[in-house]
Amino acid sequence: MKKFNLSSAANRREFLKNLSLALGFTAAGISLLSLNSCNSNKSSEKEQNRNAAGKNTGGKKLGIALLGLGKYSEGQLAPALQETENCYLAGIVTGSPDKVDKWKRQYDIPDKNVYSYENFDQIKDNPDIDIVYVVTPNALHREYVVRAARAKKHVICEKPMATTVEDCQTMIDACKQNNVQLSVGYRLHFEPHNQRVMELGQKEVFGPVKTIKATNGFKINVKPDDWRLNQQLAGGGPLMDVGIYCVQGVLYTLGRAPIAITAKYGDKTRPDYFKTVEQSISWQMQFEGGLIADCTSSYNAEAGLLYGEAQDGWWRLDPAYSYSGIKGETSRGKMEFEEVNQQARQMDDFANCVRNNKPTSVPGEMGLRDVRILLAIYEAARTNKKVGV
Ligand code: NDP
Repeated sequence: MKKFNLSSAANRREFLKNLSLALGFTAAGISLLSLNSCNSNKSSEKEQNRNAAGKNTGGKKLGIALLGLGKYSEGQLAPALQETENCYLAGIVTGSPDKVDKWKRQYDIPDKNVYSYENFDQIKDNPDIDIVYVVTPNALHREYVVRAARAKKHVICEKPMATTVEDCQTMIDACKQNNVQLSVGYRLHFEPHNQRVMELGQKEVFGPVKTIKATNGFKINVKPDDWRLNQQLAGGGPLMDVGIYCVQGVLYTLGRAPIAITAKYGDKTRPDYFKTVEQSISWQMQFEGGLIADCTSSYNAEAGLLYGEAQDGWWRLDPAYSYSGIKGETSRGKMEFEEVNQQARQMDDFANCVRNNKPTSVPGEMGLRDVRILLAIYEAARTNKKVGV
């Protein structure tokens, strides 16, 4: 397997230059988003899926180790890895010995590819594992990403990338120092309806965007001691968990980042349950030129909308952020994209990037940018003041 290797300074400079161009970095080094995942400018909704992400471009399948065998790994990522073309489920890292047998049997994983959090660093000597996918509670992402990078493994980290900007930077630095790629699990960048919204907004297919609304929430039903309700481990409530998709949706609609934020916490109707995290939150993201995107996120209401209105038309995804069943329409009619396995496409795309030494369209820098915005939203809600980003 050809490893991603930036041994010479010249290669590294060239890589960073290409990365910056591909991501549309500003002089300040902030990614503004691009349409890397979209390769069509058509305005008709009656199109086939256009993104080539996931197509096998040849070469050996890369081995992925899932780290943290919770609901997302079990219910989504492992099944998706049965459908990938460029990568496969090669190993597991878990703190629960009782999960090991079932995973080994179900996915034919050999003993030598099973790790605990204690012996995980030995993964550096395992040529079967090319990529470690970190799927633990949010505040633990940093530790495992850094250890994976030191073991010279490429890394995918689940969203939100971390709970502080400093952690995100540490993770990015560790991956750079060890010449491995870092990507965030932003599956919707590989989903056709959402890709279409990127195109409609960023390419101004219906003219300049005037209005954006995004809302994402669900009725949470975890035990009171679950990490999602624990500020230390989650970094926050619904905003960190699912509101991040609204931030993402607004930013990939416009292809640029906000300049200021206002926000307000919702009332806590269940204060005993939501002890350390918010129950709901609403916020506004202000952009240069005056556009204000309106967003809400809740652990107490089902919602999943991404709506945009431009000069000559509108679009609406609802549900916009789910694993399947995404529906969309525009002022010109219904969107008719086929259902895809988002996670399979996302992992195949990253494996393809690693194999071909190409920058991912959802890199650590994007994860950091979003965590910075999430924390600014919390600051605005806490202080009741407009916060610049
Ligand atoms: P779960 O609680 O279901 O699983 C988390 C797993 O992390 C546990 O099962 C455990 O695995 C491991 N873990 C390690 N340390 C701890 C700890 N101290 N407390 C609890 N668990 C620990 O969470 P999810 O799978 O739902 O979420 C995991 C991550 O994936 C989060 O960052 C979340 O935001 C993200 N996610 C992303 C989604 C997406 O659509 N992109 C959807 C859902 C989640 P083990 O027993 O193997 O050690």
